[in-house]
Amino acid sequence: MTPNQVIQRKRDGGVHTDEEIAFLIRGFMSSQVTDYHMSAWLMAVYINGMTPRETLALTREMRDSGDLLDLSSIPGKKVDKHSTGGVGDKTSMIVAPIAAACGVTVPMITGRALGHTGGTLDKLESIPGFNPLPSAEKAAAILKRAGAVIMGQTDDLAPADRRIYALRDVTGTVESIPLITASILGKKLAEKTDGLVIDVKAGSGAFMPTMKRSRELARSIVDVCRAMKTRIVVVITDMEQPLGCAIGNALEIRECIDFLNGKTPEDLETVSLALAAHMIRLGGRAKTMDQASRLVYEAVSKGKAADRFRQIIREQDGDERVMDNPDLLPKAAHIQEFHARSRGFVTRCDAKLLGLASNALGAGRNKIEDVIDPAVGLYLKKKLGDRVTRGETLCDIHWNDEKRLRDAVPLIEKAFEVKIRPVGRRPLIHAVLEG
Ligand code: URA
Repeated sequence: MTPNQVIQRKRDGGVHTDEEIAFLIRGFMSSQVTDYHMSAWLMAVYINGMTPRETLALTREMRDSGDLLDLSSIPGKKVDKHSTGGVGDKTSMIVAPIAAACGVTVPMITGRALGHTGGTLDKLESIPGFNPLPSAEKAAAILKRAGAVIMGQTDDLAPADRRIYALRDVTGTVESIPLITASILGKKLAEKTDGLVIDVKAGSGAFMPTMKRSRELARSIVDVCRAMKTRIVVVITDMEQPLGCAIGNALEIRECIDFLNGKTPEDLETVSLALAAHMIRLGGRAKTMDQASRLVYEAVSKGKAADRFRQIIREQDGDERVMDNPDLLPKAAHIQEFHARSRGFVTRCDAKLLGLASNALGAGRNKIEDVIDPAVGLYLKKKLGDRVTRGETLCDIHWNDEKRLRDAVPLIEKAFEVKIRPVGRRPLIHAVLEG
């Protein structure tokens, strides 16, 4: 078998055997399969898809490309949450401390920015000193003390996904149901948790923009988890417009801190609280969603979740003073207001275009080696359905580089639409699947 033969089979619409998938992923890890082979194969999968059996085999190979986390010495049920990727989606940094404050252990393995979407790891790195890659021993110690750790994949944990994820980001192969399924579950199953909550996004800013494709992705994730005997809840949430108001790394951390200190946009609250409640239920701390929701409200209103986030930051070597003084986070040199050209109602606040605009400012990557600017991004002053007057600010642009600003502005212009008649509001939570 050669890499070329495997690529050709998928290129021609064939179905791989488990052995072929193992050959490709193991060969990639041992450098017999090169980045250019992998990129070509990813594109063939993107175009021709995979059967459920192939997706399962790929997920297994991703999981087994490194070590499995051994959390058996840590008491209690372990539950993690992951999102398929969104714009302004900062819920991981909100739900991990909430669930931990409610007694669930959260070993959260997370990723970097992908395509037009942000990455939890990049966001956390905007906290001065924050270490997103603690050693396995240190991560276990943090988990024991803080109840949660939020970290990137080390070289040992699902390393195939880390390398493939970086290639997908720059080869136009992100938006693929089997690749997303195997990427997310490869790393999540390596954690050997008792349960998973997966937030599948639907809408313009999601990798699967239509509801039909989001449901297919949700089904694919549930099916693999079922085959792997892992409890799973998939929540399909809306990503037609960004979640919350902040887009960009440090800006989003600031919004999380505000949230945990009791100040939050309604959409971010609805989605975060639902995800946290599912985690608490899967973690055995509540029997019903009503009970779980009560625990969540208590953890936030009594400041217990904020205390946990502070502890997580401290344990991961970050500057915990950001919790009291978010001005310690990186700040852009300039803030420019973007104004409405007419009066009426916001009828489009396009998540994908706003994500691309934030990336154009420097908040994301175009090439693997690009360095992220943690300070830049957007802060939305108006969202879908809001009434605006002519000249009112639709969003603040936080920028550092004038050329980048020039690239971002046309995207922001396209992202917003203001019309005389309002459009109906979309639900924030479209569906919940459990397996
Ligand atoms: N998150 C991941 O970890 N992988 C994907 O492919 C998409 C979102």
